[in-house]
Amino acid sequence: MLSPPPPTRSRCFRFLVETTNQNSDSESVPTDSGFESIQNGAELPFLEVPSGVSFLWLEPDGTPIVLSEAPTSGFPLGRLEPLEDQDRPELVLTTHRGSHLRINGFPAPRASKLGLKDQLQLGPETVLHMTVYHHPRISPPSPEKIGTKCPVCLTKFKETTRVLACPSCGCVVHAEGQEVEVEKRLECSTVSSECPNCSSPLNRAEGYLYHPEV
Ligand SMILES: [Zn+2]
Ligand SMILES: [Zn+2]
Repeated sequence: MLSPPPPTRSRCFRFLVETTNQNSDSESVPTDSGFESIQNGAELPFLEVPSGVSFLWLEPDGTPIVLSEAPTSGFPLGRLEPLEDQDRPELVLTTHRGSHLRINGFPAPRASKLGLKDQLQLGPETVLHMTVYHHPRISPPSPEKIGTKCPVCLTKFKETTRVLACPSCGCVVHAEGQEVEVEKRLECSTVSSECPNCSSPLNRAEGYLYHPEV
C-alpha cells in the first residue's frame, strides 16, 4: 500500500522575467525578431525559486538565473529565501552593499521581504515580478487542522476527510470527492470561488496567483 504523500509544496515561488528591448521605440513586438512574442496574455518566462536558500545570479549575457548553491567566485545579485512556515507568500531578499537592485522603483535595502506583485528591477531592461505558481492540492487536513471547524459548513475536520487549502492564507475547506458517498459528501470548496477567510480566489485550477499584464 502506498504511504500517504509527504506534504508537498502546493505553492512554488517564481519570478516572471520581463525584458524590454532598449532599442525598440514602440510597444509592438516584431514578429520576425527571433524573440518569443509576449503579447496577448501569453506567459512570461519564469525563474523557479527553490525552497531553502538560493542565489540570484546574472549570466555574462545579462540573463538572470537562480542558483541553489552559492557561486564559487563572484558576487550573486542577492540571496533568496522563501518563508515557508507562514501563510502569506513572501521571500526574503538579502543584497550586498553597493547593489544596484531596485524594488518597486526604490533602491533595495540590505534585507527586504518580497511579496506577491513586487517588482525587482535588475537594471533598465530586466524586471522580475514576484509571484507564486499554485498547484492545488486536495489532501487530508494537516494535524493541526483536525478538530477545527470548516469555515463554510462549520463541521469539524476529521482525519479521514479531504480538504483544499487556500494558496494565499492557508485556510482549508472540505473538498471530498468520490471516496465519500454523494449524500454524505462535503464539497465546500465548490460553494464559493473565494476563500471564506481572505477572499482571494480559491482556485481548484493550477496556475499563477498573479501574472502581470504584458
Ligand atoms: Zn465544510
Ligand atoms: Zn484564504
